[in-house]
Parts: sequence; structure tokens; C-alpha cells
Amino acid sequence: MEERKGHIGVTTDNIFPIIKKFLYSDHEIFLRELVSNAVDATQKLKTLSSLGEFKGELGDTAVRVSLDKEKGTITISDRGIGMTEDEINKYINQIALSSANEFLDKYKNDANAIIGHFGLGFYSAFMVSKQVEIVTLSHKEGSEAVKWSCDGTPEFTLSKADKTERGTDIILYIDDENKNFLEQGEIDKLLKKYCRFLPVSIVFGKKTEWKDGKSVETEEDNVINDTTPLWTRKPADLKDEDYKKFYQDLYPFTDEPLFWIHLNVDYPFKLTGVLYFPKLKSNVDPHKNKIQLYSNQVFITDSVEGIVPEFLTLMHGVIDSPDIPLNVSRSYLQSDHNVKKISSHITKKVADRLEDIFKNDRPQFEEKWDDLKIFIEYGMLTDEKFYDRAQKFCLLKNTDGNIFTFEEYKTLISGNQTDKEGTLIYLYTNNREEQYSYINAAKDHGYDVLLLDGQLDVHLAGMLESKFEKSRFVRVDSDIVNNLIKKEDIADADLTDKQKEELNETFKSQLPKIEKVEFSFDYKPLNENIQPIQITQNEYTRRMKEMAAMQTGMSFYGEMP
Ligand code: ADP
Ligand code: MG
Repeated sequence: MEERKGHIGVTTDNIFPIIKKFLYSDHEIFLRELVSNAVDATQKLKTLSSLGEFKGELGDTAVRVSLDKEKGTITISDRGIGMTEDEINKYINQIALSSANEFLDKYKNDANAIIGHFGLGFYSAFMVSKQVEIVTLSHKEGSEAVKWSCDGTPEFTLSKADKTERGTDIILYIDDENKNFLEQGEIDKLLKKYCRFLPVSIVFGKKTEWKDGKSVETEEDNVINDTTPLWTRKPADLKDEDYKKFYQDLYPFTDEPLFWIHLNVDYPFKLTGVLYFPKLKSNVDPHKNKIQLYSNQVFITDSVEGIVPEFLTLMHGVIDSPDIPLNVSRSYLQSDHNVKKISSHITKKVADRLEDIFKNDRPQFEEKWDDLKIFIEYGMLTDEKFYDRAQKFCLLKNTDGNIFTFEEYKTLISGNQTDKEGTLIYLYTNNREEQYSYINAAKDHGYDVLLLDGQLDVHLAGMLESKFEKSRFVRVDSDIVNNLIKKEDIADADLTDKQKEELNETFKSQLPKIEKVEFSFDYKPLNENIQPIQITQNEYTRRMKEMAAMQTGMSFYGEMP
């Protein structure tokens, strides 16, 4: 074949400067793009082989990544389908940039839109290279090897190559600004980040071992990936141990997860994955937003904020969907129709799983409630659909440590904790030590007191008040408690208004620093369970203050309703 020069099918001459300039922060994704192309080419050949359309030997199909520091090159080699000269013209010279053309025309003056919308694929190589070569031999019988070379202008050359093995080598001549990619450690890091779970073996050099106090190379290929990660396998073939081990692989040195969900959706979109409910240790959990997003086992991002509902970002694990577009920006992902559908589907699955455990293994569910609670309450507060599901399995704990569903608790207090207007009063404490005497007094009256001392409990109580019919949540030391005192237990106080007034003054002068405290001298107790005087607080004022304080303390959880 004659050497041939050509012009890449781009109408705009300035595509390369744009690639270099605007994608600066994401330079490292060139490796992901090129390795995943190599994997695609290998998978295609495997498919052809299984269909009987490719009759040759598959042989070793590993994708190999290698560095040559002296030449300043990175090479990505595969033994996939390869390309003929025609195919190079079609897929590299024409097609690859056709979508880029459209976008350049459309968004000439808006660099962000370009970055956001167009997947660079093969051409991302030019983010780090001054020259790129493709040396390829198609799997098709009688093909000739071809070399394509391009120095980052729209001009390319095509010539005959002497490659004898089927497949493609992509050779990158790394430019001066990107020399860091010639470091073994850097490439190793990137391969582990993006290629860790690719479905074809990725080899980077040889394994090393310690011998006589130093590290020496062995004969064995250094395979950096697991080609069949847990989420791609059948749940029936997996044991609890497998799920726990995978969790440790993803997040070393974290506590065992509480539960997990193996996702497997075929319709209306494809989605697999495994999500874990982590043990959330403290308010500010460093492992928030740690779900890893994959597309066909290619890592995209480990920050799913804005992609899954806020409360689900507390979960850990992997979501893999070919329907999530690769190499587009976060804002684009967030507005993507598929991504929205996926996110509501995941919410549903999470609710299904929790309901399932609750129904089938309530003791386990109760045992883990303290850890699960923040997650479920957060979901209920921020997602209406999740609330509807979770109100069946959200639990309330009282000060005796007994646990109830909403329904069960309502039944428990219905006969006994209704005020004069027929409103059901849910008594709670948010601080057992401080409100100790009030809790005891309430219990002496035969009332039940809920323990709402979690971070989100007060918010949840506010929400439940509006959801439950004719119900109020009232702290045990609140003034409203007076309304609950049964008529048969008290008589009118033998005090004149003047005496009451004087007593009031006396009390106030003894407790000058406490604001908005109210004293009641209106009745006299008829049995010893009733305190003659109650010092209470106004429920409404107190709660408003608490909410305001929480709001500032809660910024970690984003906007609260
Ligand atoms: P995409 O992978 O989304 O199709 P790319 O720009 O990454 O887009 O690649 C363009 C095309 O070039 C691919 O669709 C494929 O036909 C061809 N190609 C790229 N790399 C290889 C390779 N290693 N082996 C065979 N064909 C390849
Ligand atoms: Mg590609």
C-alpha cells in the first residue's frame, strides 16, 4: 500500500486545541478511554468467535499497557478485532469526530457545553500526546496491517505496517506537559482506579515479589483487574461472605455493612450493582458519597451526589449501567432522563429490601435499627415516595427500650394519651438525663415516653405531626403535658388568684435566668402520682429554637424540609 496523507473529517480546524485546553482537569481519562476501546474490541472478537463468525484461535486476549520512558511512550495493545484501512477511515477519520463537529458548531462560544456533552473517546489521547499512532491488523482473513499517525493537527498519514499479530496497538508520544503519565506509579494508580473491574484482563508489566530484602520482577503477568466483580455474578452463587469481602475490597478498614441489595434490572433500562447499608459511626461520616458509578464495568465516578437521591448517598457500593452516559459532565448527568429514572428505581429497590427484611426477620431489623435509623429517617424527610414506603417499617423506641411500628405505637397510646380536644399526644424525651424527673412523672401517670434523641428525630417528629391525623408530639417537660392530667386525679386549687400571682412571682424570682418557664398552680393533686406544681416550657417556642439550632448543625445533610 502507498503511503497516503489525508485530512481528518473535521470541518473546524481547531478541535485539538480545544481538546487540550478545555479538558485539562480530566486529562487522566485518556487511559480509561483507550483501555475501554481495547476491551470493546476484544469483547467484539469474542462475540464473533462464539457465533462462529471468527474461526481463528482467540489465544491470549489480555490487554497490555506498557511504558517506554526513553521513547516517552505509552502503548495500549489488544488482541481484539483490529481495523482495516477502510475501518480506520470510517471509525477514526470520519465518525469519531462527527459528533464533536456538531457540538463545535452549536456551542462555539461555550466551552463548558462542549466539555459537558461530547464524549471524546479515542481522541482524548491528544489531551496528553504530541503524536498518536495506531498500528492495527484486522481479524478478517487476508487483511493487511495498517499504521495511522497523527501529530495533533487534522492531518494524518496512513501507511503499511509490519504487524503480524491480530489486534491494535495505540502508541502515545506523551507531550512535555504530561510527562507524569510516564511514571509507573501514576499509570498503576489510574489503571486501578478506572480499570479495576473491566471484563477483560488488563496486564501492566510483571508481578514483583520480595527477595533478599528487595522487590524483583517475576515471570508472571501483573493483572490489575477482577474480570468478574461481584455485582456481575448471580446472587444465587454468592454467599454472605462474598458480599462482605467485596465490601472490604471497596472500602478497606470499614465496619461490616448492615445489609446489602444486589440490583439487577433489565427493563426499562439496564442496571446492575450492589448497594450496602453502612454502619454510620458519627454525624459526619467520611464515607458519604462513596457509591461508585460504572458503565459496563468501566469506572466513571465515585461521587454520585446529584445522581442518586440525596439520602441514598449515605449508602455504599457499586451501580453499573450502560444507560448512564460516559464521559459527560456532572450537570449533564443530573439532567439526564435515564439517570433520573434510574435514581427513582433504586429508591424503590432500597425500600423493597428494607420492607423485606422487616417482614421476614424483624428481630434482625430491630437489632440493627439504631444504625439504620438515620438513613431511613433521612429518606423519609427528603423523599415523599420513600416516606410512603418506610412508614410501614420505620420504628419508634420508647424509654424502656421497647420498639414499635407507627401503627403499633398508636394503638398503645390511643386509650390513654388523648387531650381534651381528642388530640393524640405523643410524649417524648430528647435527653433522658436532663428530663429524668419529667419522664418519671409521665410514667407515674401511666403515659409512655418515646426516646427521640437521634440527630433527625426532632425533624421527623415535626413531619409525623403533620402526617398523622390529630396528633401532637410533645416533649415531656412541655406545658401541654398539663392538658393530659386526668380530671379524676385533681381538684381545683384552694388558692385565690392573688395567691397564685404571688406564688408565681416568688418562683420567678428564684429562677431568674430561665426564660419562658410556666408554673401551674391551678389544681391540687388527689393522689401521690401528681405533682402539686409543674414547671414546664412552652412547647412551640422551645421547638422553634431547637429547629433553628439543628438547621445550622445539620448542614452535612443538606437542606432539610
Ligand atoms: P466509541 O468507543 O464510543 O465508539 P471512540 O472514539 O472511543 O468511540 O472510538 C471510535 C471507534 O474507533 C470505535 O467505535 C472503534 O470502531 C474504533 N476503535 C477504537 N479503538 C479501537 C481498537 N483498539 N480496536 C478496534 N477498533 C477500535
Ligand atoms: Mg471508546
